[in-house]
Amino acid sequence: MRKYSFASLMGHALRGNTRWRTAWRDATLKRQYDAVIIGGGGHGLATAYYLAKEHGITNIAVLEKGWIGGGNTGRNTTNVRSDYMFAESAALYDLALRLYEALAVEFDFNIMLSQRGWMTLIHNQHQLESAHHKANWMACNGVDGEVIDAAAVQKMLPLLNMSSSARHPIMGAFLQRRGGTIRHDAVAWGYARAASDRGVDIVQHCEVVGLEKRGNRIVAVQTNRGRIECATVGVAVAGHSSVIANMAGFRLPVTSHCLQAMVSEPLRPVLDHVVLSPATGVYVNQTQKGELVMGSVLDLYQSYGQRGNFPTIEKTLTAVVEMFPMFAQARLMRHWAGIVDVVPDSSPILGPTPIDNLYINCGWGTGGFKAIPAGGLLLAHALATGKQHALAQPFGLERFRSNRLVDEGAAAGIAH
Ligand SMILES: Cc1cc2nc3c(=O)[nH]c(=O)nc-3n(C[C@H](O)[C@H](O)[C@H](O)COP(=O)(O)OP(=O)(O)OC[C@H]3O[C@@H](n4cnc5c(N)ncnc54)[C@H](O)[C@@H]3O)c2cc1C
Repeated sequence: MRKYSFASLMGHALRGNTRWRTAWRDATLKRQYDAVIIGGGGHGLATAYYLAKEHGITNIAVLEKGWIGGGNTGRNTTNVRSDYMFAESAALYDLALRLYEALAVEFDFNIMLSQRGWMTLIHNQHQLESAHHKANWMACNGVDGEVIDAAAVQKMLPLLNMSSSARHPIMGAFLQRRGGTIRHDAVAWGYARAASDRGVDIVQHCEVVGLEKRGNRIVAVQTNRGRIECATVGVAVAGHSSVIANMAGFRLPVTSHCLQAMVSEPLRPVLDHVVLSPATGVYVNQTQKGELVMGSVLDLYQSYGQRGNFPTIEKTLTAVVEMFPMFAQARLMRHWAGIVDVVPDSSPILGPTPIDNLYINCGWGTGGFKAIPAGGLLLAHALATGKQHALAQPFGLERFRSNRLVDEGAAAGIAH
């Protein structure tokens, strides 16, 4: 292991490390691209990366109105899992998890994947039967998942309140051992660096404000930095999907909602799983820095206001302290919100739109971080070939017309 003297470390701290290279190029915006991706979140950046890597298309711009990862990708609670029930969803989300498992090596960049186990608590007989049902379905789909009893839960989570007089007593848990957390910023930065290395232009502070159509095709995007011609357009803007659809002249079955999260001050390591209570919708994990990351369900009203509120803080913390009474001693440090895109069946929308050369990736709602590698790969396929990838076919926009919904909300009992 390389050793540094105190003087050399101080030098790096004060001067910066002169050998570090910038992670991605500061691209000069061109006036024409083969593909324009709107949205520099995880899904948009991954789309650009897979377009370059899998299809050899590199004349691409990712246009981001703020900074990359500044939307939901950098605001989420970093949980990853693939515990879905339908075979279509299992194939999609487990592909994402498998790609994530290989990503650090592929990028030569530490995305801090921590497969510490995803645990959904079981509070009653109905949830116990549903958990067994789900685990069986997952086994049929070739995805890991199991039901553990209360004694096993207590052993894994010694601080959990297992009292029979708790508001929501605990009978056991559903556990996906391959679930866990990944550093969200690192995913955005890793994809940005890898895409930029392959020639993709990543353009921050460039907002798409209009779409120019000829016939049924988009010929150019209008931005706050001028007009850009393009052969195809990919859209991955999460909670702003219906805004872009409106510019293109069609409607999406998407509503935008605020989703909030918060972190405590750093604590010593006390929690090495991700724990969700379905009774309250509240979940918690502990970061490598020691902070408790806590989140809960959507704000029920529709909104583009990217800010939190005190009722949600109170509801979330009450539920966390019910689960882990000791956490009442920790102080809350930060709290924030993102705008997520909610669809009626809690499954994403991937692929073609009513516009010939415009393809979309949206509808991930509260759970699209875990899907980024698969969402990017499948949108790239649609953009490059003009065809739906087989794995994306069940998730086309068309399903809302033909009523072939993939209702994971009802099936797996999870928000997204
Ligand atoms: C509080 C919170 C907790 C969450 N927790 C989890 C979790 O634990 N696990 C999980 O799997 N998922 C979670 N999610 C959901 C997940 O974060 C999202 O589904 C996912 O990040 C969506 O990625 P994206 O790339 O599609 O969108 P984003 O990361 O939101 O990127 C879209 C980008 O498009 C840009 N944009 C919008 N309009 C324009 C325009 N006109 N021109 C140019 N750019 C534009 C935005 O600025 C934004 O950066 C959570 C979300 C929130 C808010």
